[in-house]
Amino acid sequence: MTTSTPPQSVSLAEQIKSLVHQREGRLTRELLLQPGRFGLGKVPAGAAPDATTTAVCGYCATGCGLNLHLQQGVATNLTPSTDYPVNLGMACPKGWEALSALDSPDRATTPLLRDASGQLRPVDWEHALEAFCSQFKAIQAEHGPQSVAFLSTGQIPTEELVMLGSLAKFGMGVIHGDGNTRQCMATAATAYKQSFGFDAPPQTYADFEESDVIFLIGANLCVGHPIMWERVLRNRRGGKVVVVDPRRTETAQAAWKHLAIRPKSDLAFLYGLAHVLIREGWVDREFIDAHTTGFDDFARHVEPFTPEFAAAAAGLDELQLLETAELIHDHERTSFWWTMGVNQSYEGVRTAQAIINLALMTRNIGRPGTGANSITGQCNAMGSRLFSNTTNLLGGRRFEDEGDRRDVADALGIPVERIPSHPSWAYDQIVEGIRTGEIRGLWVIATNPAHTWINQGDTRELLDKLDFLVVQDMYHNTDTARVADLVLPAAGWGEKEGTFINTERRLGLIKKVRRAPGQALADFTIFKLIAAAWGCDELFARWNCPEDVFQSIRDLSRGRPCDIWAITDYRTLDAAGSAQWPCTSEEQLHEPERRLFADGRFYHDDQRAKFLFDPPTPMPEPPDADYPLLLLTGRGAVSQWHTQTRTQKSAVLRKLYPQSIYVEINPADADVASVRTGDRITIESRRGAVTATAIVTAVVQPGQVFIPMHYEATNRLTLPHFDPHSRQPSYKDCAVRLRTSRSRLPK
Ligand code: SF4
Repeated sequence: MTTSTPPQSVSLAEQIKSLVHQREGRLTRELLLQPGRFGLGKVPAGAAPDATTTAVCGYCATGCGLNLHLQQGVATNLTPSTDYPVNLGMACPKGWEALSALDSPDRATTPLLRDASGQLRPVDWEHALEAFCSQFKAIQAEHGPQSVAFLSTGQIPTEELVMLGSLAKFGMGVIHGDGNTRQCMATAATAYKQSFGFDAPPQTYADFEESDVIFLIGANLCVGHPIMWERVLRNRRGGKVVVVDPRRTETAQAAWKHLAIRPKSDLAFLYGLAHVLIREGWVDREFIDAHTTGFDDFARHVEPFTPEFAAAAAGLDELQLLETAELIHDHERTSFWWTMGVNQSYEGVRTAQAIINLALMTRNIGRPGTGANSITGQCNAMGSRLFSNTTNLLGGRRFEDEGDRRDVADALGIPVERIPSHPSWAYDQIVEGIRTGEIRGLWVIATNPAHTWINQGDTRELLDKLDFLVVQDMYHNTDTARVADLVLPAAGWGEKEGTFINTERRLGLIKKVRRAPGQALADFTIFKLIAAAWGCDELFARWNCPEDVFQSIRDLSRGRPCDIWAITDYRTLDAAGSAQWPCTSEEQLHEPERRLFADGRFYHDDQRAKFLFDPPTPMPEPPDADYPLLLLTGRGAVSQWHTQTRTQKSAVLRKLYPQSIYVEINPADADVASVRTGDRITIESRRGAVTATAIVTAVVQPGQVFIPMHYEATNRLTLPHFDPHSRQPSYKDCAVRLRTSRSRLPK
C-alpha cells in the first residue's frame, strides 16, 4: 500500500512540511494500467504528451465518465468518455468546463485567520491547525463536546467523508454533524429506508431507455440532469414522457404530456391515481400479497381520494387523472422518477412514498424500464448518504444500535466507547442550536450555508453568533468563507483521488491530475493533520491514503445492501471502469447495468416493502391578501451549479446563463402589476426582499413566480419549514408580493 503521510513519530511541523512538499512534488501514484492510458498512476518519464486517463465528473450525481488529456501528467483538457455506461460519449457544459474551475484567482491558496482587527490574514498551516484545535477545544471544555458541530457535503469523495465523520465523532468527540445532502436528498433517503428497509435507489439509467411510460415528478431533467434527458431521448420503445410539475419547464415543454398541478398538491394527486388503479383492479395482487405489507390499509386510506376530489385538489380535470391511471395500466413498463420538486417539501417523504406505492402496487419495480427512482443532486450525494457518519453510522448503520456500533469499532480497530450511542441533530437542529447557544463552534466543509440555507437572513445572523467558525473550501470568498474566523484551503476535484457514488449506485474514481494551488491540500490530508494536531491520530493510523480508507469502506459494506466486496482496490475499479452496488462477485463487477429488487425481496426483516402514507397537510404559508403570490425556486440553467462558486469561474459557462437574478411572472399577474419583461421589480416575503429582473412568461402559472436558487439573494425570501420525517427544508412554497419600480435594464 502506498503511503502519503509521514510516520506518526515526526512532529506536526515536520508532517506539514513534508505534506506541502509532497503536494508540490507528486501528482499520482505509480499504477500504469494500459499503454497510452494511465490509471491512478504517476505518468512515467517520457510518457507521450497526449496520454489520457479517466475520471468521473465532479459536479452532479449523474456521474459522467470523462477522459482527461494529460501533458507531462497534468490534465490540460478533457472529453466525455464514449465507453462509460452513464454518458456514452456525452457531457453537459459543466462537465466540459470542469477544469476551468481549478484555475480561478479566487482559489484559497493559504490558510486565513481572522485577526484582532477583524481581517482575515494569511497564516501558515501550523498556526491554522493550532487555532483550529485551541479554539474548538476551549469551546468544548467550557460548553461540552456537543457544542462544536460540523456541516459537510456531497461534493467530496467517500473516503474523505469517512475520514471526516470518523475524525469528528470518534476523535474529537463531536456529537452533531450533518451534510448539505439534507437540503437535497434526505427525503429520498428517508422514504427508501422506511419503505424498502435501506436507502436503496433501485434504478439503472438504462431504465430511461427501456420504459413505455416515464413519469418525471418535480424533475426538470433538461436543466438539472441533461445527460439523463439524453438517455430518455434514446428510448426506442416510444416511451411517453409525462411531466408532473407546476411550471411548464423545459422538460414539460418537450414531454408527451404535462400535468401542471397546483404546487404541493402532489400527494392528493398521487393518492387519486392510486384510488383509480385500485378501484379498477389495475393492481398486481399477487406481487402485493407476496412482497409487501400494508396494502389493505393503504387502499382504505385512498378511498376518499376520488378522481373528483383529487383532480380538484391538484387543479386538474378529472379526465386528466383518469387518463393518467389508464396510461399506467395500459403499458407494461412504467418508471417513476422524482427529484427536488418532491424532496424539498414539508410532506416530501410521504409524497416520495406515494410514488413508491404506485410502483409497488402495479409491480413497476425490479423489471427493466420500471422503478420508483429518486434522482440525486451532488456528485457524491449517495456516498454521503451511506458513509458520512452524520445522522447514520458508517455504512447505513444506526448509532443507537449496539451491534452496529460494535461492527464499526471492529472494522476500524477503535474502542467502541468512542462511538456515540445516539444520532446527530439534523442540519436545521444544528442551526437552531446556534440560536439557543448550544452550538458555539462550527466547522463547514465544502458547502455554503450562508447562501443555501432556508431563510438566509436569519442564518447569517446566526453564523455571526458563533464563537468560532471554520470554513474548509477550494475558494476563499464563498458567502460563508467571508464570515469565517478560519479558512482552510482545500484541493478540488482533479487535485486528489477517491471514489464517488452516483444516482444509480455506481462507484467511479476521481484522480489527481492537477496540483492544488499554493498551500491548498486534499481534504483527506487536512483531516489527517487535524487528527495529529488534536492528538487523536493513533485512531486513524491505518489510513495513510484515501485507498486505505476505501479498504475500510469495503470492510464496512460487507454483508450490507451496499456491499462492494468484489471491488478489491482502486486498480480493480479502474480496470472495470465503474461498478454499481451491491458488487459481491466478478460477474457483478463487470455487469454494465443492474437494478435492484428483481427477486421481489426488500431489506426489511420480513423482506417485504411497506406501503406508507399519511393525509396531505396544509401549506404552512399559503398566499393571502397581503402576500398574494406563491414563490417557487429551482434550477435556472444547465450551466449553473448550486451557489455558482465553480460555474461562475468559467468564462464559457458565464455566457450561458443570466448573470443577475431574475424572476419569472405570468402575463396575467404582470398585467395587474404593470410589469414588463426587463423591469426591475422587488419581491418581498415576510422575511426579506429581493430586487430582480422580471421575465414575463407563461412558464409559470397565474399566482406563482419563480426565482432560480443559484443567486445569492433567493433564500432571503424562503420560509423555514421542514419535512417531519427527513427534516429536509421545503424551499418551494412561500407567499410573496411584488413591488414595482420604474427602472428597466438597458437594452
Ligand atoms: S451531467 Fe453532471 S456529471 Fe455529467 S457532465 Fe454534466 S455536470 Fe458532469
